[in-house]
Amino acid sequence: MTKIESIRSEFVEYIPDDLEDGVLYISIPYATAVHKCASGCGETVVTPLKPTDWSLIWNRDEISLYPSIGNWSLPCKSHYWIEKNEIIWARKWSDAEIKRGRRKDSKRKKHYYKNTKKHNEI
Ligand SMILES: [Zn+2]
Repeated sequence: MTKIESIRSEFVEYIPDDLEDGVLYISIPYATAVHKCASGCGETVVTPLKPTDWSLIWNRDEISLYPSIGNWSLPCKSHYWIEKNEIIWARKWSDAEIKRGRRKDSKRKKHYYKNTKKHNEI
């Protein structure tokens, strides 16, 4: 497996079936970004662009995704940041950290949706 060091962005309406390594496909109409795992394992990584998921920072030709991408459900369990078109490798998390991260994530989502509901009721 060859690790990918950099990634470029491609704005599309529909995510293509055949994904190229080192390309982040961004669909604004579907608020989704998709890329092939930077570990080179060949798996597809989907990052929804929503307030509760990922944010895309787009500065001229440079893209960054926030927060980091933790592919805990993939066999490679890779963890990296996409920052200014570069793959910044982060260390792998332990099982305990993954559990903690997931708990925090679902708490954050609950909080977000509760507030959204409140807002809509007004
Ligand atoms: Zn991988």
